[in-house]
Amino acid sequence: MKELGIYIHIPFCIRKCNYCNFYSVQYKTELVERYISSISKEISSFTGSSDYYVSSMYLGGGTPSLLELAQLYPIFALISEKFYINENCELTIEANPKTVSAQKTKDWHILGINRVSLGVQSFNNDELFVLGRLHKAKHVYSAYESIIKNTTDNISFDLIYGIPEQTTDKWVNSLKKAIELKPKHISTYCLSIEKGTPFYDKRNELHLPSASQQRKMYYLGLSLLESSSYQQYELSNFSKPGFSAKHNVACWEGKEYIGFGASAHSFYQNKRWANFSDIHQYILYIQNQKKPREFENKIAQREYITDRIFLGLRLIKGINMAEFKKQYNFNIQEEYKDVLRKYQKENLLIIEDNFLRLARKAYFVSDEILSEFV
Ligand code: SF4
Repeated sequence: MKELGIYIHIPFCIRKCNYCNFYSVQYKTELVERYISSISKEISSFTGSSDYYVSSMYLGGGTPSLLELAQLYPIFALISEKFYINENCELTIEANPKTVSAQKTKDWHILGINRVSLGVQSFNNDELFVLGRLHKAKHVYSAYESIIKNTTDNISFDLIYGIPEQTTDKWVNSLKKAIELKPKHISTYCLSIEKGTPFYDKRNELHLPSASQQRKMYYLGLSLLESSSYQQYELSNFSKPGFSAKHNVACWEGKEYIGFGASAHSFYQNKRWANFSDIHQYILYIQNQKKPREFENKIAQREYITDRIFLGLRLIKGINMAEFKKQYNFNIQEEYKDVLRKYQKENLLIIEDNFLRLARKAYFVSDEILSEFV
């Protein structure tokens, strides 16, 4: 049997954060009910092979933690009816600290959720305000306590650096506060100003840290996390031993996944597809018994291979080139001779024991290097 990941998109938020370009709409009970009913229909009508077991399921958003047990339960019931769920399946829910209550954390335990990804972003209330976040630092502490007590200790924190007006000291301070709580996993993301966000509209007024400050923040974070016994396993992800995010690692390693819900993406049996981002269009198509797909493509072998390299190099261990050749009959060293030579000369790419990986100093400029493999 083959591994499969399942992603469920819950696109509801109380309000839009200033930096966010994920697909989300305002929470309205009536719309949530119609959406749950549509997503249930999408899951029920999925016809796939029985050669798979689900090794991870991820509820992302939006703010999945806004939903109550009665709203989440039908989704979980259908997934376990339809798919074979592995007993060690990693079951993650994304949560906004302000929406976490004792009752919800108990409900998550009932549902079998065994990992919570908490959108902490910063421990500095001024920065949280600038980001337009719903919560304050005190909500992180109460949410964390409640999750540990009632759901799981497998908790991940998302943190952002490069926030307007942020200094290196402020970033380090936030990160230290995160480390003090000893979550099993920490992700650090550099703020990027994306089109269509409130930050983009006032980008010329924002006092953002310079690129060299951002770089300093990234590497300071990396050293601080390492000295606190977090292992870096991906460019932005760090965990205590044995607690890397199975769902994400499977995607980076080219394993298959199915996404249900508006804007969800899938990669399954040599095809890639994406559902409509617009929730109303998504619901309408499901109601009319049509697949809610924005696109669906067959993936050519070469495209799959370049994706595997692009994503595989995000992992700190890199790519085992001998394995790769055996699996895909593709010799990376031969096919990308010039690219490898160029970046090896600059000490940005390393080949060691048959593994191709990024050098530490290349982590912050990885986009430029990875784009050479596409
Ligand atoms: S809570 Fe998350 S998904 Fe919702 S607007 Fe903020 S960043 Fe975006």
